[in-house]
Amino acid sequence: MGAAADNLQGVRRRLAEAAAAAGRPGDAVRLIAVSKTVSAESVVDVLAAGQPAFGENYVQEALAKIDAVDRLRPPGSPAPEWHFIGPIQSNKTRAIAERFDWVHGVDRAKIAERLSAQRDPARGPLNVLIEVNVDGEASKSGCAPHDVPALARLVAALANLRFAGLMTVPAPREDRSAQRVPYARLRELAASLAVAGLPTAELSMGMSADLEAAVAEGATMVRVGTALFGARPARNDERSER
Ligand SMILES: *Cc1c(COP(=O)(O)O)cnc(C)c1O
Repeated sequence: MGAAADNLQGVRRRLAEAAAAAGRPGDAVRLIAVSKTVSAESVVDVLAAGQPAFGENYVQEALAKIDAVDRLRPPGSPAPEWHFIGPIQSNKTRAIAERFDWVHGVDRAKIAERLSAQRDPARGPLNVLIEVNVDGEASKSGCAPHDVPALARLVAALANLRFAGLMTVPAPREDRSAQRVPYARLRELAASLAVAGLPTAELSMGMSADLEAAVAEGATMVRVGTALFGARPARNDERSER
């Protein structure tokens, strides 16, 4: 077993403890293993250790890795569930619609429309989470909270998409109570959508440094890279592949 498969036990323990502290069931939160910059071999190792879902940010890297994982995993073993978690350029929607199961981070109508048009109906609907810029940072992707209801309605109406929930990547904060603030905002936004007839099953929020805060505020999916695979090489275009 590699280091990442060992780290998986530690991350699962953190999730179980955070869920227990919040009075939530142990299986309330799904772990998305963020494998950007990580080799296909490491993905296969973690997959074999029982982690089914992986998140990727960069389309070209992801396509090569999805193929490599399919070649490397034991014949007959289940394929991973692939989540696209990066910003989406409109010229990359076809590849995402064709190769991914989940998309965290749709933030505008044009992207949603393209993903639906390019999704093969035989693969079933693509699960879509809307990315919300809860901190209102000018430099960030994600749609403004007041634009979420209209976009959610559009996603829910598109033939080959399923509106699955909301996602956010807040500005980093140091202490636990500050970390909870943006996650509480996302939870409240989901509650207001539910009142408007748009139930949001999933809240994708929380990363290596703050997953406890996200689980305390109701995360159903956490996206964890560093705590599983170790520090990534610096990449100056992170979150800006647009
Ligand atoms: C890289 C990335 C993560 C994982 O972050 P870590 O701090 O390494 O756990 C989660 N979500 C998104 C959108 C990312 O780009």
